Order: sequence, then C-alpha cells, then structure tokens
Amino acid sequence: MTVRRRRAFRRPFRGALAAVAACALAAATAQEPVAVADLPPNALIPDLRVLPPSDLHLVGDDAAGGALRLKFATVIWNAGEGPIEVHGPAPEGDAGDGGGGAPQGAAAGAAEGDAEHGHGPDDALPDRTAGRTADRPETDSFVARQVVHDADGGRHDLGEVGVLNYEHRHGHLHLASFARYELWSLEADEPVALVAENDKIGFCLMDNLMVDEELAARDDPWYFACDQSVQGISPGWGDLYVAELLEQDLVLTGVPDGRYRLVNVADPDDALFGADPAVAWASVDLVLEGTTVRAVEGSERVGSDAARR
Ligand SMILES: [Zn+2]
Repeated sequence: MTVRRRRAFRRPFRGALAAVAACALAAATAQEPVAVADLPPNALIPDLRVLPPSDLHLVGDDAAGGALRLKFATVIWNAGEGPIEVHGPAPEGDAGDGGGGAPQGAAAGAAEGDAEHGHGPDDALPDRTAGRTADRPETDSFVARQVVHDADGGRHDLGEVGVLNYEHRHGHLHLASFARYELWSLEADEPVALVAENDKIGFCLMDNLMVDEELAARDDPWYFACDQSVQGISPGWGDLYVAELLEQDLVLTGVPDGRYRLVNVADPDDALFGADPAVAWASVDLVLEGTTVRAVEGSERVGSDAARR
C-alpha cells in the first residue's frame, strides 16, 4: 500500500462537475429511505478502514489549565467499492432532498487548491446554514442522511444516520461522532484499562489523502470542498486529520508514565452503513515518560475480523 499525501489539486474537470451537479439536483426528488436489505445487487458498498495514528507528540495546553495533551494524526479511509456519502441541508432555494449527489462545493466553485482541514474563517465556505432553521434547534444540528451509489449511477437514500453540527471555528458542518480516540493501559501486551478517551470527534468528510491507488476510481479527489450539503470519502481515498487540528488529542491528566495503546475507532456508534467499528479501527503502542512520548516501532495494528484491539 502506498500512502501519498496531496496538498494541492488541479481540477480541469470542474466545468463538467458543475454540469453533472446541476443535472443531479434538478433530477432529485424526495423519496422514502431504503432499507439496507433492499439495496439493489449492483449497490457499491463502502468499507471504512483506519490507519494507525502517527505523528505522536505532547503539548501543554494553557487553555486546559496547563494539562498535558497527546497529539496525533489520524486517517480514516474507504476500502470499499463505493463512496461513503452523507447529505446535510440542501442548498438555499432547493426544495429537493439533494439525493442526486455531486458535492455542492464543486458546483458552487469552491476555493482552488484547498483540501486541508482546519481552514480559518477567512477562507471558509459560505455558511449555507446561516438564517436557516436547524432540523434539531435544541442542538443547532442538521440531520445527516447516508446515500449509497450503485454501478448504474443510481442513488439510494438510507435515511438518517446522525447529525451534522456547524463548527464555527472551521466554517463548515461536521458529522458528529465520526471517530473515537482511546488510550489503554497494557499488561502483557493486552489492553486492560481505558485511561483516556475523546469520543465526540466530529469530521467534515473529504478526500485529501490517496491511500490505495488501485482502489481509487479517480486520480483526483471527488469530495474536496468540505461541503455542507454532500460530504464523503471515495474508494481508495482517505480523510487525513493532522495532529495540529483542534480535538486531535487526548488529555493526559493523571496518566502515569508507562506503555499504552492509542486506538482510533471510526463510526464508534455503528451508525453508518459500510463502517463497522469492529474492523474500522487502528492502533499504535506508545511509551510515555515525563513530558516525552515515543511510538513503539512495529506495534501498529489495524482492525480485522480476527484482530483484537
Ligand atoms: Zn472541520
């Protein structure tokens, strides 16, 4: 497997994308959600996987009263045949459900060359949720629905799979509870106690890291705009969250020196189709000593039916 990081993208196909998106939106009609069991045989099933956390380091955080934090980078990627795709609020003025499914950012002409997470308010996309009534006003959340593609261009709405929250610091919607970070103490190489966790990790799903070129149908990212209406991860592509991002960490208050296992679990609530938390996880062991941390060489594990965390 080759992992190739991409920072900037050229999109000569943008005009074509816009045309496709316009067609898809015009054709979109409200429809009843489809049960997974009723998906057609040609449905393209996603399969989320996780790469072991990397770039481990410690920072002191004054905002948290000087607490020591373990920072790290994570990648959640799609090893399936079709994209994992969620739909949020439809663009203003569009009464349809957006079931057609090209990323709206493509049609709207998203900022060139920026498929990194964590951009500031200056280069954020326009907030399409501004002035609109949230589906869940008590939490300012919008309903997220999962849409499965099929091999003949069909789209199948599986209905609600969670909520999207507006992340003001990033300027876009995040799919809530897309990942959970855990730190386990070890005894004889087995995890025995959870010593730290961060279970409210929201993500804007996007293609920003080519993980498996053979699986990737496209050489360019399809979901690149951190879009508010349609987000996703394409086959062969991953969603890299670098260590510097907000909440890419665990607070180590009260955690003594020793050897631990850092685990990233995707879709921990098992809400998404094609994202089984029993296999969509990865881990790396680390040694904590005072204000230093080091990853244990060769200790990386990735989820499988047989493996244990
Ligand atoms: Zn974000």
